[in-house]
Amino acid sequence: METKTAVRVKEKQSSKKHNNQKKPPCGEKGIVLLIVSLSVVLLASLVLLGYLIFSPEERPAPVTVPATATEEPGDETLPDWIDVQLIAVDGESRRGEAIEAVKDIALHYVANPGTTAQQNRNYFNNPDSTVSAHFVIGLEGEVILCVPLNEKSSATNARNRDTVSIELCHPDATGRFTEATEASLIRLLAYLLDRYKLDEENIIRHYDVTGKLCPLYYVEHPEAFEKLKRDADAARKGGLS
Ligand SMILES: [Zn+2]
Repeated sequence: METKTAVRVKEKQSSKKHNNQKKPPCGEKGIVLLIVSLSVVLLASLVLLGYLIFSPEERPAPVTVPATATEEPGDETLPDWIDVQLIAVDGESRRGEAIEAVKDIALHYVANPGTTAQQNRNYFNNPDSTVSAHFVIGLEGEVILCVPLNEKSSATNARNRDTVSIELCHPDATGRFTEATEASLIRLLAYLLDRYKLDEENIIRHYDVTGKLCPLYYVEHPEAFEKLKRDADAARKGGLS
């Protein structure tokens, strides 16, 4: 019995040993290597593709000022009634991106009753601000240029790319503008219509782009907006003051 058992154990051990020594055939090993190699290549490709597709948006956009950008007030000839106070290029309110050919002039109201053009310009210049307009017109009719006309402002959503934007100050919550503000607006519109060879239909409201109630008064009083456009067109034809 003892002998038989010993023999069986030996056989088992021998069989185990034999099994241990058994190596996968060369073909099988090659396929495993091939699969591993392909997986590595595929993974690397996916990582590279992901980097190319998603990375640029995750990284802050590089702040580049086009070679043609007006960095200093004296670089461009503007009427002397325009007070040039350019805000800093900070990647948000002023990205330093070149504007496309200007197709429309977009009007806005500041929605902060009683604030001055200077206060609104300074707000745009604040590092926390993500908005801006090319111009702000104040309660006394003062006109401040905040963003060079050859750059995009951050006011009119999808139309930032091809519109010049004007923010208008107002004394109260009705959003109605003072006579001085409106007179300056007509003068500025006449200048811009002439500069870009546009006509009165190219004066638009923020409302016309996104449906936002901006400028509130010209949304609630479309007749006042139509009159403004006619006045701007007449001022352009009558010559610039
Ligand atoms: Zn607006």
